[in-house]
Amino acid sequence: MHPLELPFSRAGHDRAAHRRAEPDLVERLRADPRTRVLVLRGGRLAVVGQEPQRVALLPADEPARGADGSWAFLGEADGASYLSLVLPDGDEGPPQGADGWAGLRQVVLGQSAALAAAEPDVVLVHGLSVAAVALAGWHATHRRCGRCGAETTVVQAGWARRCAVDDRETYPRTDPAVIMAVVDDADRLLLGHAATWPTGRFSTLAGFVEAGEAPEDSVRREVAEETGVMVGTAPGDVVYRGSQAWPFPSSLMLGFRARAVSTAVQTDDEEVTDARWFTRDDLLAEVTSGAVGLPGRHSIARALIEEWYGAELPVV
Ligand SMILES: [Zn+2]
Repeated sequence: MHPLELPFSRAGHDRAAHRRAEPDLVERLRADPRTRVLVLRGGRLAVVGQEPQRVALLPADEPARGADGSWAFLGEADGASYLSLVLPDGDEGPPQGADGWAGLRQVVLGQSAALAAAEPDVVLVHGLSVAAVALAGWHATHRRCGRCGAETTVVQAGWARRCAVDDRETYPRTDPAVIMAVVDDADRLLLGHAATWPTGRFSTLAGFVEAGEAPEDSVRREVAEETGVMVGTAPGDVVYRGSQAWPFPSSLMLGFRARAVSTAVQTDDEEVTDARWFTRDDLLAEVTSGAVGLPGRHSIARALIEEWYGAELPVV
């Protein structure tokens, strides 16, 4: 099996991390008329248009832009540089040149077809947006030093925070999570229903990697905890398939195919309240009738399900 080719797991921009230490990088790029900026407030992005809304790529050299905000250098593409600007929380309207504010999920849902088709300009803006939202979320919750509690300052063009008291830098963290298509020896797929989901919604099982744990072990542990199904420990029983950054607030979804060595289902009834084995015919029939709802086109969950199915499933 080749790893899944997921449009959201390859960025359209170069992070150009080597430039982050350049003196006054953000200030110089703000003065460049080719530079574009993604503006955020309260975790939402400034957008243009309606249905679908698109993330606004605004000129950075607008004189009033960002007097009271926090800037970061996202990277480069096609000779242009991209910055993010996080404005202080508040309920003000969108910045000049934008029409409103929208959450990343909302923007992605409106563009899932273009993302699935890997349209280059959509992939570029998606990658920039995911990075900007993830970075903004980290800054918002890591203002103080984790060691001594002193206030920290932003350095490395937005990619680190520094404590002057103990001369320590901290970097944006990412929390790995596993998500898995569990398949039994009859080639049936195990899908679960979470307590918080609408009736009929089913998806792949998922959970966070714990401290000091290998992702393959997380797959086995989460499947056993949530459904009582045992995943094999032989070579090839847990195989990596692809990934998706999921900055809500800071997850990285690692996608696996897992081979079940038992089939009896006993859900934990806390996170997962129902779990069922589906044949391909079952799943197609229930999705077509609307009895089962699957995750959206933009998600690694659906990509894993459709990889097992062998084709795209209808969106009802
Ligand atoms: Zn400190």
